[in-house]
Amino acid sequence: MCRVSNAFRSPGDPVHVNVDAARCVGAGQCVRTDPTVFGQSDEGTVRLLRGSLPGSLRSVVTEAAALCPAQAITVTGTADPPH
Ligand code: SF4
Repeated sequence: MCRVSNAFRSPGDPVHVNVDAARCVGAGQCVRTDPTVFGQSDEGTVRLLRGSLPGSLRSVVTEAAALCPAQAITVTGTADPPH
């Protein structure tokens, strides 16, 4: 399960991403999902290229967190407003 905040956010609010390189197993799904946000160190573990992102990247980083087999990606500022 990915770790995603349930706090209310407006769709235009920035999204914040954190990675835990100690948990990373170097699978690389995050890099394939968005190589402008996620990179890999020489050892193959995740390296965050940008941490605070525009709301337009919310869905792609949320997808990266969901795909990470090590649950090493944390995204905050993702919840849609209530209907
Ligand atoms: S998807 Fe997860 S395990 Fe794979 S490189 Fe990215 S952070 Fe590491």
